[in-house]
Amino acid sequence: MNVYLLHGTVDDWTPGRMAHQNYVPRPALETYLRQRDRPFAAWCRDATAGDVLTVDDATRAGADACLAARQLGHEVVFFVNAFQIASGQPYFFSLLDAAIDARTVDSVSYAGHTFVLAGAGEIQRFRRSAKTNLASMAVSDALTAATELAQLLGAPEVRVADHQQPLLLNELCRLRAAGVAIENHGWSHVEIGALDDAALVQHVVDGREWLQRSLSVEANLYAVPFGVSDVPMHLQERVGAAYFLCDARLPPRRLSARCWNRRELTTKLQTMNRLSSYISLRAEFYDAGGRREAKD
Ligand SMILES: [Zn+2]
Repeated sequence: MNVYLLHGTVDDWTPGRMAHQNYVPRPALETYLRQRDRPFAAWCRDATAGDVLTVDDATRAGADACLAARQLGHEVVFFVNAFQIASGQPYFFSLLDAAIDARTVDSVSYAGHTFVLAGAGEIQRFRRSAKTNLASMAVSDALTAATELAQLLGAPEVRVADHQQPLLLNELCRLRAAGVAIENHGWSHVEIGALDDAALVQHVVDGREWLQRSLSVEANLYAVPFGVSDVPMHLQERVGAAYFLCDARLPPRRLSARCWNRRELTTKLQTMNRLSSYISLRAEFYDAGGRREAKD
């Protein structure tokens, strides 16, 4: 059994747009779901039911991916952060992405380095540097820091894109009613490697209790925010029946009794979309050529 990960879909997906880089075009997801030999199965501990699809982060894009999966006959697990839904505040990385897209400066000095924001590589290096610094901050500090970065980028009034806006509680209720399995991504989207034992347990328990209180959901699965820091052995029992990483450095399979490393689907589906765009453009080109020849 494989466990797959997505962050959501957008309708007007555009390559190179920072606010789109973790999402996939909706048609590409729908094509992929229709073409699978077997539908994605519900999570089960003994892993015999088949591959599992998971979607992370409480955004509208994530909700759209979950609904698309349900409409096409697939089971799906949605890992959400309670803080974003309860507060209505966006993820700091959503604000950062919007600010990078809306930048009005050519370079920034940040963390002792000057980033020339001309090529894709340097823009990614800046994003990675900022994201790494903000990921370990308390959630309100990370949002404040992202707002300051928007000013640094010359985009102080920037607004988070619609698809990255946090879900409302009633939208989450509708997803549950549609058969989406709602699970725990922790209270906020913090890097757990920066937390001591007590804070890590609190982060998991607060997320789980909010889901119980607000949605009557028994969330017994946990996806690690950012997906790369393992849960210390002596705390693994406290985070739930199973927990999930997404670490490209490790094999994408079950790593221990409770830990699964997931496969990212995002790049595959983005590539699928580029290929199908290329094929349809090529068809249009020959079609136009054919018509011209006939006319000439
Ligand atoms: Zn996440």
